[in-house]
Amino acid sequence: METPTCFGLFRKSGLLGKTGELRMIPLNDFVRQWAIVADDVLGVVQQVGQSGRYVLGDEVKQCETALAAYWSRAHAVGVGSGLDAISISLRCLGLEAGAKVLTTALSAFATTLAILHAGGVPVFVDVDARGQLDLGQCRDVLQRDRSIRTLLPVHLYGLPGDGSELQRLQEDFELAVVEDCAQSIGARFANGRPVGSVGQLAATSFYPTKNLGALGDGGAVLCDDPLLAGQARSIRHYGQSSLYVHSEYGLNSRLDELQAAILARAFLPRLAEWTAARQSIADRYLTEIDSAHLETIRPLAGTSAVWHLFPVLTAPAERDTFRNWMQDQGVMTGVHYPHLATDQKALTHRRFEIAGSLTIAQRMAASEVSLPIHPFLTPDEVTNIIEACNEWNPRTRS
Ligand SMILES: *Cc1c(COP(=O)(O)O)cnc(C)c1O
Repeated sequence: METPTCFGLFRKSGLLGKTGELRMIPLNDFVRQWAIVADDVLGVVQQVGQSGRYVLGDEVKQCETALAAYWSRAHAVGVGSGLDAISISLRCLGLEAGAKVLTTALSAFATTLAILHAGGVPVFVDVDARGQLDLGQCRDVLQRDRSIRTLLPVHLYGLPGDGSELQRLQEDFELAVVEDCAQSIGARFANGRPVGSVGQLAATSFYPTKNLGALGDGGAVLCDDPLLAGQARSIRHYGQSSLYVHSEYGLNSRLDELQAAILARAFLPRLAEWTAARQSIADRYLTEIDSAHLETIRPLAGTSAVWHLFPVLTAPAERDTFRNWMQDQGVMTGVHYPHLATDQKALTHRRFEIAGSLTIAQRMAASEVSLPIHPFLTPDEVTNIIEACNEWNPRTRS
């Protein structure tokens, strides 16, 4: 399914490229994105190159200021990746070696890795019907096991979880909360507050496919407490408190000047527009996809989702035929995620726990398909994707 050239049945003229060649609709379209940002990015490269300052200079500071403002939080700290942003956040909250962290097994594996890197023991709880960490089950687990002090929810697909219940849990059990916002930059809870604002810290990723993606790796930690921000700054930079004085056990996980400048000057100024494009495509999918064989997921009432991914659910036995059908119609699809963290071989010799069953997470892992929802889709392409979904009939072979 990997290559973007395929000679299936392209019935729709909208699928023909400029030179008349058949064009698959990709899951992410970096070629169209580059055409839009190229001038700005090349200008930025020129400026950073000329500045002679490539690590932890003014560009990182300005990017952090702009990002904190976008996110309505007091501080942003640029780091090397989303994975590091999560593990640094956990360490800022004083996670002790062997301490349990409640989280979801239905996420990028980086969520689990971050807990392990920070010395924690993941405790996996099932998800709800939207694929979000089931906070009701978390409450039961927290009541049973008072040793659990830390919660790491993921706003998967760019859908906000229940912010009010998250806050109640945090208060009732005096929890340290880190929100994994790698897929949800700009999303809002039902009370209008941004995701990431309940946790003491939020972590995000600038991996290229993310809603705010760099031209390489990067991530950020967001918080309101200046002490936590200072600690994150120290950990990302060898644990230095001042030059050659190492008061924390640190990492090298810095966002570099080039990526920071590209993010702040070429991508962040376009993020609101790109998010609005994702939202209007999602609106079309939610109203126009009416196949009896596909289930869509609606955001929690009152929340504002940013649709990093657009998941549809098939019967598990029909997932592959649906994906093949879509490919034959010229539409690339993805799966997020086919394997739960608990099923990964990497965990074989690591401590982890499963609290209760992971029935819904397993069902979603077996039935989810991601449709293209990048902001560079044309209205005709969106129409083609919707028609391909609606014309799919699992009983008749394509
Ligand atoms: C992408 C992602 C990460 C990891 O981010 P990287 O920058 O790739 O390390 C963590 N959690 C979630 C939910 C993600 O989607």
